[in-house]
Amino acid sequence: MKIFRLVPVTSLALLCMTAISSAQMNSPTSKKYTIVIHGGAGTISKSIPDSVKETYLKSLSTALNIGKEILEHGGTGLDAVEKVLNYFESDPKFNAGIGAVYTSAGTHEMDASIMDGRDLSCGAVAGVQHIAHPISLARLVMEKTPHVLLAYDGAEKFAQSVGVALVPSTYFDTPERLKQLHEMQKKIKEGNHGTVGCVVLDEYGNLAAGTSTGGMTNKMPGRIGDSPLIGDGTYANNKTCAVSCTGWGEKFIKNTVAFNVSALMEYKGMTLKEAADEMIYKRLQPDDGGLIAVDRGGNYTMPFNTTGMFRGVATSSGTFEVKIWK
Ligand code: ASP
Repeated sequence: MKIFRLVPVTSLALLCMTAISSAQMNSPTSKKYTIVIHGGAGTISKSIPDSVKETYLKSLSTALNIGKEILEHGGTGLDAVEKVLNYFESDPKFNAGIGAVYTSAGTHEMDASIMDGRDLSCGAVAGVQHIAHPISLARLVMEKTPHVLLAYDGAEKFAQSVGVALVPSTYFDTPERLKQLHEMQKKIKEGNHGTVGCVVLDEYGNLAAGTSTGGMTNKMPGRIGDSPLIGDGTYANNKTCAVSCTGWGEKFIKNTVAFNVSALMEYKGMTLKEAADEMIYKRLQPDDGGLIAVDRGGNYTMPFNTTGMFRGVATSSGTFEVKIWK
């Protein structure tokens, strides 16, 4: 018999402390880091009320500050990626964890992946229905199994075997997402956003990337998007860059977007911006989505071909910005 337990939303301070203690405890340094985040690309109306806009920008800033804090105290890029995405997974505004969208059957199926650019280690979960923090389970797949991707019941059995509590499926029920499902089913509304991603260059020169999502509203049960697929929605390689994508997953899978950004750099000598622009503006079509990426030199880019993409960047040289539209 399954024992369900609600996992409490961890406080910001605790998140940071845990991450820092599990990483190198260096004193604060001025060493170089870059962290870039996204909270999904899509049709984001410019006429959303200012109060709503402010809540999104505030969440993006909080997420960036969690990552910054970890990186400034000697934490690793992987820790920053995981803890930033844990924060988003606890914020119902974003389509990951508690805010995951509904499938056409009125259920929730979440996907996530994480990758370590040092040695191409990676882990992913797909179709999980009772995991509050899919990105953390993806990291456990990477660190504790010989596999890359675990899905559905197998992923949840693995979670229990390593002490991750399952949550009841009602944990993911939110009125806003239910309304979106009904609007989508009546074809009143199109589009989707809210997937979350984070890419980091840490002070050790390592690149890391992660992506977490509930997928697309009204998707068929069993549908898996690009987010848990290494090379499609997520990729990191210390030779080139770290990438996290968001948008219409099928298009990102067909174009192997995340890996291709890295490949264009490695094989064709493109810069990060050239490679990312090639994929987003030339290979994909308008309204397909966007990506965030950082390279080994700390350069970053955040292109998207939708009306908006929730996004932000912070660097050791003092850049700190959060944005929604161009
Ligand atoms: N790419 C995600 C998927 O297709 C959705 C998104 O990024 O909004 O599952």
